[in-house]
Amino acid sequence: MLDLIIRGGQVVAPWGVGDWDVAVQGDKIVSVAAAGTVTEEAIRVVDASGTIVVPGGIEPHAHIAAPFVAQGQNVSTAPPEQVSRAALFGGTTTLLDFAVQNPGIDVNQAIAERTAVWQGHSYADYSHHLTLSGQIQPNILGQVREAIEDGFASIKIFTTNVRPPADPGQGRMVRMGHLHDLMELVQREGAMLLVHSEDDDMVMHMYQKMAAEERTQWWNMNLVHTNESEDVSFRRVLNVAEWTGSPVYFVHVSARQGIQAIGESRSKGMPVYGETLHNYCCFNADNYREENGMKYHTYPSLKSEEDRLSLWDGIVKGGLNTMATDEYCTSWDIKIAGKTIADVTGGHNGAETRLGITFSEGVSKRGMSLQRFVDVTSANAAKIMGLYPRKGVIAPGSDADIVLINPSIKKRLARDDFHITDYSIWEGFEIAGWPSTTILRGSVVVENGQLHATLGGGQFIRRKVATDITNRPAC
Ligand SMILES: [Zn+2]
Repeated sequence: MLDLIIRGGQVVAPWGVGDWDVAVQGDKIVSVAAAGTVTEEAIRVVDASGTIVVPGGIEPHAHIAAPFVAQGQNVSTAPPEQVSRAALFGGTTTLLDFAVQNPGIDVNQAIAERTAVWQGHSYADYSHHLTLSGQIQPNILGQVREAIEDGFASIKIFTTNVRPPADPGQGRMVRMGHLHDLMELVQREGAMLLVHSEDDDMVMHMYQKMAAEERTQWWNMNLVHTNESEDVSFRRVLNVAEWTGSPVYFVHVSARQGIQAIGESRSKGMPVYGETLHNYCCFNADNYREENGMKYHTYPSLKSEEDRLSLWDGIVKGGLNTMATDEYCTSWDIKIAGKTIADVTGGHNGAETRLGITFSEGVSKRGMSLQRFVDVTSANAAKIMGLYPRKGVIAPGSDADIVLINPSIKKRLARDDFHITDYSIWEGFEIAGWPSTTILRGSVVVENGQLHATLGGGQFIRRKVATDITNRPAC
């Protein structure tokens, strides 16, 4: 007796797309077979006719329950209870956020703190990148090595303080020497290095220059976090990657120059990967000019229309590997409180909309193949972050994380379509195709607009990156 059969859908598997039935036993997929050929009885049958059956989405870049200061107040982004719930509604079954090693604590403390935030508090499966900052001491590198062995397979750093630091000694920027040492470690241990890559000198110079010119309104953000800074910084990071052999995953690629730099390194055989965000693909710096246009902002910044179209090109045709969100969910009041280049709040609540928007804009509107859709929303993140083939694929032996996308859902997104916070930059957006059913490890967790998941049912997932991913551009 099977636990579940998903019948009648168009299934997207690594070997092709077809009318197949997916059989599930316990947590796992046990077979993918021609429609009607699974004769074994099942406790539950999900009728998937008229839908496209894809692996559960994997969000590789989310800031959940992240403390920050807004208008002098200590606040925090939305916690796992809220984000994981919204993610399941939107067809994302695994979330990756960050265990941040702030000055004054070590890596083990950072992991313990993150575990306390998540354990028993998530509806979806989850894992944590490590974030390192400032001057990375030898004892910290030692702990990172142990953490990698323990299943924390990815480390993130910033090459900039992003905003002018209140205390210049306490920035999160990692300078080139420390980056070199970290890259050597990442290369040796077979992990993945995530880089928020901007040129700090250029960014801080522009903050000062704009202040001197009294042009500090938020809509000038793209003049501070520029294409040139992305270009210069990516190439500098890639140069060190070439010296050390370290794999690199650039988070939130925002400019066409970023895609170009990644492409050149990949053509040399370097294990380099690029992520962009669905808000970067759908809005540009002109949107900053709208009333409350800071609502669109995510660091580094929205760029020009030409950049936006290049990002779509990278997602649809290749050149970029993943569509992420940089989830940073706050209330509307907090999101629009900052009004200058130095104090706007970056990020937004995208974990729910990522899959649907990528399907609607990518597949329905731009003719992206279904396999490419799966690659950018799930499979590539699973491979690059070390979750594959447990996650990110519909195949025997993999977790039964499965999403049904109904391409006939056509509407204008309204307030009721969102299950988190009190605003969405996607309100009013026309869509064609949207996730309708979400299955997490064999359990139907969202169906007919209802959540059936259990709080605390999400599991922590240990990760290890395959050597083909860390040695060459393998997806
Ligand atoms: Zn981020």
